[in-house]
Amino acid sequence: RAGHVAVIGRPNVGKSTLTNALVGAKVSIVSNRPQTTRHRLLGIASFEAGQLVLVDTPGLHRDQGKSTASAMHRMMNRAARGALEGVDVAALVVQAGRWDEADAFAYEALSNAGLPVVLIVNQVDRLKDKTALLPYLAKVSEGRDFAGVHPISALKRNGLEALVETLLKLV
Ligand code: GDP
Ligand code: MG
Repeated sequence: RAGHVAVIGRPNVGKSTLTNALVGAKVSIVSNRPQTTRHRLLGIASFEAGQLVLVDTPGLHRDQGKSTASAMHRMMNRAARGALEGVDVAALVVQAGRWDEADAFAYEALSNAGLPVVLIVNQVDRLKDKTALLPYLAKVSEGRDFAGVHPISALKRNGLEALVETLLKLV
């Protein structure tokens, strides 16, 4: 198995840390899909079961931190215009305990583009009250159709195995 995973999320949620945690030293095998200029290659994560080509979709989430209506519009338009072409699955990275407008709009844009969206709830190690995680996951999942929900710590490398398993099933 091999496929493209768009890594999406607000600044500082841990996208780079996650990418680095997933991408090992083995970067020799490239997927059979053509790499388009719409994407910026972040890395290739190789596992026994397959490869995940991690890509950034420039413009899709760069403005999310601002949380303004116009930034949202630009993001939705770009998604609609095909910024996600060639992407098999979207990995929406959020910070545990936090879910704001930008995250909600990113989900909308990605699922409207027809992509399975895997929610990655990162930085769970920073949660002071661990019992807050379940209600948070319930709140965020309500009314949304995530292809998977994975609480992880990219920094401490917790939860990555199950996440990879989910992603490989979707590519
Ligand atoms: P990006 O902007 O989404 O690419 O975020 P980065 O990967 O650059 O991470 C932003 C900051 O969050 C850095 O200081 C990381 O060390 C930190 N960070 C990322 N993942 C985790 C995590 O799982 N736990 C903790 N405690 N910090 C994290
Ligand atoms: Mg980064």
